[in-house]
Amino acid sequence: MTQTLLPLARSHQAFERATKVLPGGVNSPVRSCKAVNAEPLFIDHADGAYLWDLDGNRYVDYVGSWGPMILGHRHPRVLEAIEDVLMKGTSFGAPCLAEVELAELLCRIHPSVQSVRMVNSGTEATMSAIRLARAFTNRQMLIKFDGCYHGHADSFLVKAGSGLATLGITSSPGVPEELSKLTLSLPFNDLSSVEKAFNDHKIAAIIVEPVVGNAGLILPKDGYLEGLRELCTQHGALLIFDEVMTGFRIALGGAQERFNIAPDLSCFGKIIGGGLPVGAYGGRQEIMDMVAPAGPVYQAGTLSGNPMAMAAGLAQVRLLQIPQTYEQLDQRTGRLADGLTELAKNSPIPFQVVSVTGMVCAFFTKSKVVDFTTAQTSDTTTFASFWQTMISKGIYWPPSQFESAFISLVHSKRDIDETLAAFEEAVAAADAR
Ligand code: PMP
Repeated sequence: MTQTLLPLARSHQAFERATKVLPGGVNSPVRSCKAVNAEPLFIDHADGAYLWDLDGNRYVDYVGSWGPMILGHRHPRVLEAIEDVLMKGTSFGAPCLAEVELAELLCRIHPSVQSVRMVNSGTEATMSAIRLARAFTNRQMLIKFDGCYHGHADSFLVKAGSGLATLGITSSPGVPEELSKLTLSLPFNDLSSVEKAFNDHKIAAIIVEPVVGNAGLILPKDGYLEGLRELCTQHGALLIFDEVMTGFRIALGGAQERFNIAPDLSCFGKIIGGGLPVGAYGGRQEIMDMVAPAGPVYQAGTLSGNPMAMAAGLAQVRLLQIPQTYEQLDQRTGRLADGLTELAKNSPIPFQVVSVTGMVCAFFTKSKVVDFTTAQTSDTTTFASFWQTMISKGIYWPPSQFESAFISLVHSKRDIDETLAAFEEAVAAADAR
């Protein structure tokens, strides 16, 4: 039932060339496949739920460009929208109507968002949102959570210090210690550590992935996000939801709709660009009014609101508004997650399945995953072996234990059943090693 692939000769050659001119042969670390002891696949083209590598092998794609391809690759309406604007010009450095239309849509879909600034990536969105939060509150300290990723701006490359509510330490050389001391990294799903931090420090903002998609997949405990909201309100800090992954994925209105919580600021990315480089941040009017040129907080971008990216994003978001879209996504996710849960019952290697609409993660651990520490109990060597069998069976599963698989609206029952069969074989092969 599962396929045997052609040798990866062309990908290998491309990687050898790439390593001479790109650090590590890639332009972003996870895709290097280092975490699974493999070389990256170089992709030639994609369509629907599939990717084809340079050697002509086809894969069922569970990365989906790390989220944006929720409609599948090359959705005709998204392509049409890009083609339409392409002939009118690719960048003006002056306003275009599509920026306003996309901003209006974001505001309509998220009641907490009254005004939006478009940027070019998730990193820019989160980085700008914390600058704004610091300016609005006139405070400096930030809270983030272990295992949450908010892009690579200096303030986020921080890991927890030695004890609860101790000052963060840098997780990358090059990040000034002075800056990392302004970010506290606390365990996710633990309100008491947040309460303590509020008692010890003047906090400007909490930034959180409401469902953590960058440490595998970790769901918030009941009442956790509500607790963060209350603590922020009580202490005059801003609550920032980083919806770069959850936005337009776990519900049309993201985590804020699903959990019915109004953050003060929200960050978006990926999906709202339909596969082109986009990000956005937005929130309450009085806060957003501080952004230049309306207010004094400087933030700018030559390609921000780019007409092609706006057109692709608009086409995609409009399609996502079609009734029943998220029910369908939920069903597809459920088919995969339920199938995996069933496999887990008789698996020679223990793994547990976590899922939410559009995202699934299989952690190779027995411990219940509630935070980054428990996620790290996963056996990454087993995962690497599992991944290598999956890829050899034509399944492009995310190449890290600490990423979640993205399900699209075009993954068919057949694709999912093929994936389940490959999964079973991959776990058996990992056990046999
Ligand atoms: N926030 C979250 C939750 C993300 O998952 C990511 C990217 N994976 C980012 C921010 C950064 O986005 P980008 O890679 O577009 O800079």
